[in-house]
Amino acid sequence: MQKVAIIGAGAAGLCALRHVLNTPGLTPIIWEKSNVVGGTWVYSDQIDKDDYGLPVHSSMYKSLKTNLPKEVMAFPDFPFKAGNDSFIHHTEVRSYLDEYAEHYHLMEHIKFEHQVERVNPVTPGSSTTEWEISVKDLKTDVCTTIICQDIIVANGHYSVPKTPSLRNIEQFSGTMQHSHQYREPDQYKGKRVAVLGAAASGLDIALELTTFAEKVFLCHNLPVTIPSELPSNLLQVSGITALKDGTKDVFVLKDGSEIQANALLYCTGYEFTFPFLSEECGVHVVEQQVRPLYRHLIHCNYPSMAFIGIPFQICPFPFFDVQVRFLLASVTAAIKLPSTELMLEHMRQSRQEAQDSGIAPRHLHRMGSLQWAYLDQLADDALTERLKPAVRMLYNHVHRVRKLTVTTYKNKRYQILFEIDSFKELS
Ligand code: FAD
Repeated sequence: MQKVAIIGAGAAGLCALRHVLNTPGLTPIIWEKSNVVGGTWVYSDQIDKDDYGLPVHSSMYKSLKTNLPKEVMAFPDFPFKAGNDSFIHHTEVRSYLDEYAEHYHLMEHIKFEHQVERVNPVTPGSSTTEWEISVKDLKTDVCTTIICQDIIVANGHYSVPKTPSLRNIEQFSGTMQHSHQYREPDQYKGKRVAVLGAAASGLDIALELTTFAEKVFLCHNLPVTIPSELPSNLLQVSGITALKDGTKDVFVLKDGSEIQANALLYCTGYEFTFPFLSEECGVHVVEQQVRPLYRHLIHCNYPSMAFIGIPFQICPFPFFDVQVRFLLASVTAAIKLPSTELMLEHMRQSRQEAQDSGIAPRHLHRMGSLQWAYLDQLADDALTERLKPAVRMLYNHVHRVRKLTVTTYKNKRYQILFEIDSFKELS
């Protein structure tokens, strides 16, 4: 049997495990550093260290409801339970992942409270290398090492805050947090809060703060302002460049204007990190690109190493499912990957094409509307089923509606009609 190692039992790792178990000739071995499945969807009141003294993994906040309807969030082979709401509380997503794991009998395969500490190619430089993996049992502190033929990295990418350095920020006398540490709005009561960044979390948290804070400044450099009605105490302004020298709480913005705030909340995203990969693995994060990856997925030099879920602005669970099916088709040699040289050339070409179309290097893994062609191509190449068009249709619909109605879009309810490639708005 060919041993496939999986790091992490969040949605991506669970999906990988489910398909490895279903693939003749492969046997999985999977480690999860916490004592439960679900990763990001496991809410914790802790914001700094967890019970093992490790950095807290989840960035979930208490009130979070999904920003995608559950009808598109589901894995293709496991729908969410029917229920009234489409935009559901995070606890329901966690339950869904528990049910997925139960349904496919995944739990008994997962080594919980085991942290992968180091991964090393057994024969560095060889494209057919096996992997030496050192794992620590967090209950006993005992380390063991195991050799596997393939390795799937599914450690998640919303845990290590990315924080820009703002000039003079050390002079700021107010409170500062990153969205990773944000749990609930109480501590912002009566404050003037600058929320830096207006991607999904920035916008969602800024809206929640408006019911507690005196004023919320949503500071961003989006090409256009958010074209939606907003609460009267939420103001969209340019991104912050610095704290004004000699002041304690006046921020200078990119357009030269100034705001005064006594709390700063960084919603500035997360870093890709793979602290367990040794230098010999040859994986580098450059300008927020994970390199060298073929199709955002497979290590060009070591095709027996793959990464699930690197792209962002995607429909995550269905996306993981297609990536995993393509990957396993290559692992079992049902399909043949191009040579290392061709995969490297493909990666370089993708980078060049992105650059030519004005995409910033840090956005290379940002998929948005490109995800559908990417996934269809992966599915076709793996001779496996494409995602149903209704998923794309509803996802795109919500994407449009969300921008125009940020305060109300989560009240909508949808039904997905796979049999006629469509969806219905229920309210
Ligand atoms: P994770 O869920 O982060 O799982 C990674 C797992 O790996 C964790 O369990 C971790 O403990 C484990 N691990 C890490 N390192 C090690 C190690 N060294 N050894 C052993 N185990 C390790 N997606 C949606 O579809 N809809 C939404 O509405 C939505 N909202 C979101 C809101 C927030 C605030 C965030 C942060 C994300 C949101 N997402 C949403 C995206 C979400 O991240 C994905 O849906 C998905 O859960 C990512 O799964 P993952 O398995 O890649 O990562």
